[in-house]
Amino acid sequence: MEFSHDVFLRHIAQTTGQPFLIDIEKAEGLYLYGPDGKKYMDLISGVAVSNIGHRHPHVIAAIKDQLDRHLHVMVYGEYVQSAPNLLAKRLAEALPDTLNCTYFVNSGAEANEGALKLAKRYTGRTEIIACHKSYHGSTHGALSVSGNEVKKSAFRPLLPDVRFIHFNCQEDLAHITEKTACVIIETVQGDAGVRIPDKKYLQALRRRCTDMGTLLVFDEIQTGFGRTGTLFAFEQFGVVPDILTLAKAMGGGLPIGAFIADRAMMNTLTFEPMLGHITTFGGNPVCCAASLATLEVLLESGFLDGVESKGQLFEKYLQHEKIVEIRRIGLMFAIEFDCFETVASIVTDCLEQGVICFWFLSTNNSFRIAPPLTISPEEVKEACDIILAAIDKA
Ligand code: PLP
Repeated sequence: MEFSHDVFLRHIAQTTGQPFLIDIEKAEGLYLYGPDGKKYMDLISGVAVSNIGHRHPHVIAAIKDQLDRHLHVMVYGEYVQSAPNLLAKRLAEALPDTLNCTYFVNSGAEANEGALKLAKRYTGRTEIIACHKSYHGSTHGALSVSGNEVKKSAFRPLLPDVRFIHFNCQEDLAHITEKTACVIIETVQGDAGVRIPDKKYLQALRRRCTDMGTLLVFDEIQTGFGRTGTLFAFEQFGVVPDILTLAKAMGGGLPIGAFIADRAMMNTLTFEPMLGHITTFGGNPVCCAASLATLEVLLESGFLDGVESKGQLFEKYLQHEKIVEIRRIGLMFAIEFDCFETVASIVTDCLEQGVICFWFLSTNNSFRIAPPLTISPEEVKEACDIILAAIDKA
């Protein structure tokens, strides 16, 4: 085993100058383990990935079974393979009728790239509308429709014809016109610090898009697969998108993403020109097997019922005068304080005490909690006691 920080910092490209730098040897359920025997309670699930816990036995069994059959055999879309077939069928059964055709990709950013291309191709329009403070990924297209100007400006020129509206603001819907190919929006904004829209807003957005012939794209890369208490967050708002994008928790710990739409719409990427979107590893059979197993666990009767009550339990325990606000849906939280220094002190102290919380990319005065949905009520209490002690010290 090699846990040298020198190797890590010298030979692995870094995203920031201050990586978390904890050594991980093993993970199981809610817990991560270091080579020194240190045990961490993972309250962020690798950022909304390990929704059914690390190394869920059903996922591990499905991966092992697929390993014994075959790994990658061909680029996406040519050979018929059981795992992607079963997964696409199960997704179609779980989703509204119009979301019946899945394009498998490798990540959240690629899912959004595919969705934007599909919207342009299907409508013949070029304008894309996104929301201020959104986060849709780090590739050129996904970055173009993300809100954080600081992160974008160094990489311009980005996609042309992108306009921004304010999230949850009904007046801004007037900017959606017959020129707009699509509106891409997180059903609940994640990186903006867990911003939950009004039901009426999303319904008005749906109506405006329908009236203008504009496609509505819901990015459920962070909110999907049970995180908010339902399989997908849009179920709670009574609104169905034209295109749905997924990733993160979809693979139960393996990398996979998808954009999902109606077959007839999806066909516009298939013909004239053919190969409108292509990918080598999209629909990788091992990732699809892991994803199907994840979906089966999430859809087991009663599994999702506990999410809301455990979310409420966190809120009940996390009472402190220094907390400015808690924003929560299901088990997706932003805990807001007066400034970044307080947040940094709490996150660092929690880590020292073996509880992992994490920052947001663009929301400095809050930290995030998104534990595995399998966390027990006793573990919620244990975690909250440690967080409260860290808040006391901050
Ligand atoms: N969309 C949302 C809402 C996300 O939270 C993320 C990642 O955090 C992405 C897209 C990008 O996904 P990926 O990192 O897999 O490219």
